[in-house]
Amino acid sequence: MKPFPPWKHPAGYMTFALLAVAGVCVVALVWMGVRLVRQDRALEAQQLEERREAAADRVVAALEQLLAAEEQRLAETEISDFSPAEKDALLFVAGSGQIRVWPENALPYYPVMPAGREAPPRLYAAAESAEFLDRDHERALSLLRALLQTKDPAVRAGAHLRLARNLRKAGRREASLDIYGEMIKLSTPGISISGVPADLVARRARCVLLEELARPEQLQEEAEDLDEGLKSGKWRLDRESYLYYSGQVAQWIQPPSEPELTRHALAEAVAWLWQNRQSARDTEPEAAGRKSLNLDGTSITVLWRGSGARLSAIAAGPGYQKTQWFDPLLQRPDLAGVRFSLLNSDNTLAYGNQPASGPKATRAAFATGLPWDVVLVNSNLEAELGEFTQRRQFMMAGLAILALLVIAASCLIARAVRREMAAAQLQSDFVSAVSHEFRTPLTSMRQFTEMLVEDDNLPAGKRRAFYTVQERATRRLSRLVESLLDFGRMEAGARPYRLEPLDAGQLVRSVVDEFREETTSEGFALECTVPEEPSVVKGDQEALAQAVWNLLDNAVKYSGDSRAVRIEVEAGSRVAIRVRDRGFGIPPSEREQILRKFTRGSAAKAHGIKGTGIGLAMVKHIVIAHGGRVLIESEAGQGSTFTIELPKGG
Ligand code: ADP
Repeated sequence: MKPFPPWKHPAGYMTFALLAVAGVCVVALVWMGVRLVRQDRALEAQQLEERREAAADRVVAALEQLLAAEEQRLAETEISDFSPAEKDALLFVAGSGQIRVWPENALPYYPVMPAGREAPPRLYAAAESAEFLDRDHERALSLLRALLQTKDPAVRAGAHLRLARNLRKAGRREASLDIYGEMIKLSTPGISISGVPADLVARRARCVLLEELARPEQLQEEAEDLDEGLKSGKWRLDRESYLYYSGQVAQWIQPPSEPELTRHALAEAVAWLWQNRQSARDTEPEAAGRKSLNLDGTSITVLWRGSGARLSAIAAGPGYQKTQWFDPLLQRPDLAGVRFSLLNSDNTLAYGNQPASGPKATRAAFATGLPWDVVLVNSNLEAELGEFTQRRQFMMAGLAILALLVIAASCLIARAVRREMAAAQLQSDFVSAVSHEFRTPLTSMRQFTEMLVEDDNLPAGKRRAFYTVQERATRRLSRLVESLLDFGRMEAGARPYRLEPLDAGQLVRSVVDEFREETTSEGFALECTVPEEPSVVKGDQEALAQAVWNLLDNAVKYSGDSRAVRIEVEAGSRVAIRVRDRGFGIPPSEREQILRKFTRGSAAKAHGIKGTGIGLAMVKHIVIAHGGRVLIESEAGQGSTFTIELPKGG
């Protein structure tokens, strides 16, 4: 069988076409997959957006509810009832030029000051003229000491202050220090000097003196006291005074104390509210409002209500907002898993994390009436949509399986087509091989018949020889036809076997005798060894004879230059019929295949030996039908031994 070159082979075309179709299918599947995934992603994004928007609305509603409750509280709560859980919130009530704050002392400074009690300056006029005009400190001191006798603490405070000042100017710093100390001791709340609490003035003055006297330890100690006093809010100060005094204290304390950003921010928020109130009082006396302020990096939210001259407000720092407002919101079932950020009006963060870039839902403060802009990023809403990812994975897996199936199916079909084509090729080779087999005996018959017809005077010997040739050709033809018919029957499963006990030795002998007649002319020495006693098997005489004949025929055909063929019968537990030659041999890779129909070996092709490729297939068929087996032993170039093994039969 001569194979087609792969590119010209019809199976090659088919395979190529099949693979092309499969390729197109796979490409279509991939394209479909990409489209589906894209659509699914778009759907997911849309759903995500819807959920985000809905969540943003829920957050806004919850915040609104929360602030409304807080405002309600503002309207109902008495100032003294207000006790915030966090320190960074305060309630603020302003009315008729006065400010009250709860918790008390919550602010470091105030936008307006209550009028403090001060002694009238004229009481000190004489002492001051001695001090400043005459520079007679002793006289000033005696005048002031006289004033110390009065009962009015305001007058005494003014006198102490001036006394200490004169002592200092007179170079008696220690005495001045003591007077300031006394002034601190005797001071009562509400007494002020030039609008500043007398106590504070005296403490500061002591620190200045201690600095001049170079007493750092005492200075540090007293400055820390002063700092603590300023921070505790026990002195009611305006912004400028507070900044001035705290600035001074900061110079004395080493290391400087931590600035109180939140309290400052609260004070600034109150200042803002006060100013806002002053400017809005005429236009909107009933105004209520909400505002979120970023004061030096601290977010303060102010909620206020005004009614007539009274204004009440809550100023809440980040701690209060987080623990009292926002964190409880996250516990609400309708906001489970939702994370939001709130931005002040200047876009700084009031709560949450800085919103990441990417899709988000935003609710602007001006649209919601809340003090902040609400921003909602996907965050863990995405986790809820895990079903999408899962669905996509399923889809992709499905498509991948489909694509694999298409590829696998195409490969299988391509293989089947190739096999089919190969079988067709084998059959067509068989037909041409059979034709060749027929041609040789027919040609010789025709030639000899012509010679006999043309010449009537042929010598009798020659005539006989011609007839003998004709007879052999006829026999060969009829054997060929018989074996083809048998093969056809075997293929159709219709070859009948009439099994009867027979002597294998005798059968072999008669086949060899018949075969010798055919081969003696070619000089073959056919050696036959058969045991004396009969080797009985149960078999079909004709079929077994044909099997042995085929083996002998092959041994002769594939002997090459060797002319020795041996056949022997051996009876043991089974009966073995062995046909040995010293011919071309069979390569190991072919030993299995040559038993298949239409298969011809490399020896046959290489030496141009004619044949149909059905001889051994028939042998195998017959032997198997007898319950036996065919064994092949061979060495390339050394010859082959074919053994038919049959069960013993009686
Ligand atoms: P055919 O002889 O018509 O080709 P067979 O079925 O009888 O068909 O044999 C199949 C092949 O087995 C042969 O083509 C040949 O290559 C190989 N073969 C069979 N018998 C022998 C042998 N005795 N020595 C070497 N090769 C053999």
